[in-house]
Amino acid sequence: MDLELTTEQAMFKDMAKEFAIREVQPYVKDWDRECKMPKEVYEKLGAQGLLGIKAPVEYGGLDLDWMTLGVVTEQLAYYDFSLGTGSMSRTSLGILPIVQNGTAEQKKKYLPGMIQGKVTHCFGTVEPNAGSDATAIETAALLDGDDYVINGNKTWITNANICNFAMVVCQTDKTKGTKGLAVIIVDWGTPGFTRAPIEHKMAFRHHDHGQLFFRDCRVPRSNQLGGFGMRVAFSNIEHTRFGIACAAVGAINACLDYSVKYCQERVQFKKPIGSFQLVQEKIANMVIDLEASRWLAYRLGYLKDKNVNVVKETSIAKYHNMEAVRRSAMAAVELHGAYGLSDEYPVERIYRDCMAPIIYGGTAHVHKLILGRTVLGIDAVTR
Ligand SMILES: Cc1cc2nc3c(=O)[nH]c(=O)nc-3n(C[C@H](O)[C@H](O)[C@H](O)COP(=O)(O)OP(=O)(O)OC[C@H]3O[C@@H](n4cnc5c(N)ncnc54)[C@H](O)[C@@H]3O)c2cc1C
Repeated sequence: MDLELTTEQAMFKDMAKEFAIREVQPYVKDWDRECKMPKEVYEKLGAQGLLGIKAPVEYGGLDLDWMTLGVVTEQLAYYDFSLGTGSMSRTSLGILPIVQNGTAEQKKKYLPGMIQGKVTHCFGTVEPNAGSDATAIETAALLDGDDYVINGNKTWITNANICNFAMVVCQTDKTKGTKGLAVIIVDWGTPGFTRAPIEHKMAFRHHDHGQLFFRDCRVPRSNQLGGFGMRVAFSNIEHTRFGIACAAVGAINACLDYSVKYCQERVQFKKPIGSFQLVQEKIANMVIDLEASRWLAYRLGYLKDKNVNVVKETSIAKYHNMEAVRRSAMAAVELHGAYGLSDEYPVERIYRDCMAPIIYGGTAHVHKLILGRTVLGIDAVTR
């Protein structure tokens, strides 16, 4: 297995790093304080080609490999965890569902703008009563002539309040169970579609999250994205999990770099605190977590590029890398002493932000259940 980056992958990695140093690092503290980020950031990412890495060339994409997207995500996340995962989700839960399941008209309508960062999607699965158990979806889409009439609520949806259109996972026929699930596109502005922000969040403050409400919301049947069942509704979540695993590498690297600098400079007992063995142990643990996480993420990228089944490897990487960020961020804040609690030091934001992708993309418990099922052949949650 050769995990050395190609010249092209290394070029994209450098491009993402330069972008983040120029467009993100100077502003991210203020975005976090103000709980908002200019939408132009995504347009600038689009203009550099960084949103179209996995998108088809005919719609303005670059059609490159997963590893390239992984290292770009890692670089962006080093400077802003939420931008790293947020930009990756624009591919995994935005562009790819349309590429894989969309009609020619749907592709033409949405893909070019999404790749340019001018059109924003949201992907609504989770509901007040359907979180980890996404099969419990209650939002109903019932056929009435040639229209679907949608009724239901979605919650904690990324980009809910800034989206131009929503991809909504609906139940079309309760008697069919998960075989009745479908993804239906609803453009913002359609009567019966409203939304509300979720405010005062601990993590990912400058990224939008909110609720979607559908009340007798009527859309043409042709707005359905693909067919029916679990595959069409959930297959792309695996790519989001890869993105989270890569973003985690960037966040751990940031924790390590900031901690090393601080521990070299901060003097107590007439010595830099980095000279104390107990401090060095914390740094050493971060080094180990960074190395292990990078290997898991890059191996996953390598395997995805070989088009093999990666359910197990995805859960290992998502689970491990997020636990590694949790450990590294906690250690980094502790090593910064009281200053670690101030947002003047980026480790404070990483400590808060890491809780978001610990929960979405499948919680730690969910990934352990997936791994249990994979090796035991027994599904712990089958009802
Ligand atoms: C920042 C952020 C962005 C998000 N963006 C989106 C989005 O764009 N679209 C979308 O659809 N959703 C989104 N979500 C929702 C996310 O997918 C859910 O929060 C996640 O699936 C968990 O569901 P829940 O919050 O309802 O927790 P629950 O499922 O209620 O879980 C609560 C706790 O119970 C545990 N638990 C549940 N079942 C089991 C079990 N069988 N065994 C052991 N433990 C169990 C969980 O691990 C967790 O610790 C987002 C969430 C966040 C935080």
